[in-house]
Amino acid sequence: MSEQTPDPETQATGNAAEQALRLYVFDCGVIDTVTSEEFGFEAGTLPSSMTTPCYLIVHPRGVLLWDTGEIPDAEFDNDGELTRKRTFSASRKLGELLAEVGYGPHNIDFLAFSHYHNDHVANANMFAGQTWLVQRAERDAMFDPNPDFERFGPVTPDQQYFDQLKDARTVIIENCDHDVFGDGSVVIKFSPGHTAGHQSLFVDLHDTGPLLITGDVYHYYDEINRPADFVNHVSNAVTTESRRKLEAFADETGADMWIPHDIRRAASFRKAPAFYC
Ligand SMILES: [Zn+2]
Repeated sequence: MSEQTPDPETQATGNAAEQALRLYVFDCGVIDTVTSEEFGFEAGTLPSSMTTPCYLIVHPRGVLLWDTGEIPDAEFDNDGELTRKRTFSASRKLGELLAEVGYGPHNIDFLAFSHYHNDHVANANMFAGQTWLVQRAERDAMFDPNPDFERFGPVTPDQQYFDQLKDARTVIIENCDHDVFGDGSVVIKFSPGHTAGHQSLFVDLHDTGPLLITGDVYHYYDEINRPADFVNHVSNAVTTESRRKLEAFADETGADMWIPHDIRRAASFRKAPAFYC
């Protein structure tokens, strides 16, 4: 493990970086049999399926992969055919989706997840050669030899999906925000509560404008400006506090909130190989 900080000598600055910045959205599958009650809503009021996109951010100073899907590529029968595992289903392998836009482990620099739950880390081990950006609290939780409910909530870490990251080159973020490329255009926002070290991602695009990929601080747009009440948050109180901060940040920056799991908006997102810039 090593700590890394951006080198100001090679740092892209101002408009040039912003104009060259691209964001790809990949459809990494669907989760079924979700109930409204587990989120504190009346039965049948929320969609019973959720989407699990993955994102690739291409910046002049490097490339960041954000989340790695819900089904490992090795568990697919064939790329392009629907594969079902547990409550997950997906048709495309992440490796193939990335290859279609010219990327793979050979030219991706940074790997980060919103958090360690299975629907976000399925292909984590594929990127163990990349530099992993993770909050200290999250990494501690992921490799805790004796996970307890207090720190993990009902979802204990499933290390088979990310065990190879233990020895990866790692930037440990000290439970705070982290400006990935040093120019303010791609910023990891510390947003704990769903897990101990959950994080969200702010991306400031030239044409599209600023957006905030919230991760699982919310699962539905209905949860904005509402206290958290979900059975799988480690802490509803801490999640509620993270919501308050993200909402204030979005107000201040004008960022469009992207809630990855809300299937109702999923179809409207431009999918790779198209991109946002
Ligand atoms: Zn999730």
